Amino acid sequence: MKIDLSGTTALVTGSTGGIGHAIAKGLAGVGASVIVNGRTQAKVDAAISSIGQFAPSAKVRGVAADVSTAEGCAALVKSVTDVDILINNAGIFEPKEFFDIPDEDWTRFFDVNVMSGVRLSRAYMPGMLKRNWGRIVFISSESSLMIPKEMIHYGMTKTAQLSISRGLAELTKGTNVTVNAVMPGPTMSEGVETFVKDLARQNGQSVEQAAANFIRQHRPSSLIQRFATVDEIANMVVYVASRQSAVTNGAALRAEGGLVQTIA
Ligand code: NAD
Repeated sequence: MKIDLSGTTALVTGSTGGIGHAIAKGLAGVGASVIVNGRTQAKVDAAISSIGQFAPSAKVRGVAADVSTAEGCAALVKSVTDVDILINNAGIFEPKEFFDIPDEDWTRFFDVNVMSGVRLSRAYMPGMLKRNWGRIVFISSESSLMIPKEMIHYGMTKTAQLSISRGLAELTKGTNVTVNAVMPGPTMSEGVETFVKDLARQNGQSVEQAAANFIRQHRPSSLIQRFATVDEIANMVVYVASRQSAVTNGAALRAEGGLVQTIA
């Protein structure tokens, strides 16, 4: 199988670092014209240059916009009018005891993790349906199914993404547009690396020991017993974005190292 996305335009939100950056790199590597997004121009520029080094012939540009706000999404849509592949990746997480999570955090998590994807799907999906081809992928999490007790607000947003992606898929009936969700498990992105480094410091361990301990203690059912790499998640997303994935629609696809113990 050879994935070739030349001739398509892909927008990856939150792609200046982490999983989003790996996805942007992966899509550029198979010929898509990629739009990188992050909140600051400096980070967007750095991401464009790093993708350019990886895939010198890739067409990559970027838009600095905060996709957690209506204004940020509107600015992005104004600058990029048509998109064939929309990857709703931007997302935040923060472990916090339920009883300590104030209303503002619930709203902020919902705005960043859920409303960004809602607003951008609303803007770009009609064009995909009109052109009769498109891919929308929501980057959810295994936390959508196994709600982490240390961040229930995060789990809520990840379950909401599954509901939205399945609902949007219903609107694609009889077309060549698909809407799916991918559920990564623990993945060594920049955000998670910072979290693991903090754990290592707190417990007087090396980063490798803290990472291994985290999986053993907090994700004991993981079959791979390690964090995924961002490229391993990107591989799944690039496939779902490809023409070859045409019959996968309305699905919630796991890339979580087998830690969810149910079959379906
Ligand atoms: P990360 O923190 O490493 O990177 C997130 C990127 O999004 C950063 O570049 C950040 O600048 C950008 N971003 C954040 N808020 C933004 C906003 N409002 N507007 C524009 N850009 C914004 O995160 P990650 O670990 O790569 O996570 C990416 C996605 O994957 C998230 O939706 C997350 O929930 C999901 N996920 C991550 C893991 C994991 O273990 N890393 C597991 C499951 C799901």
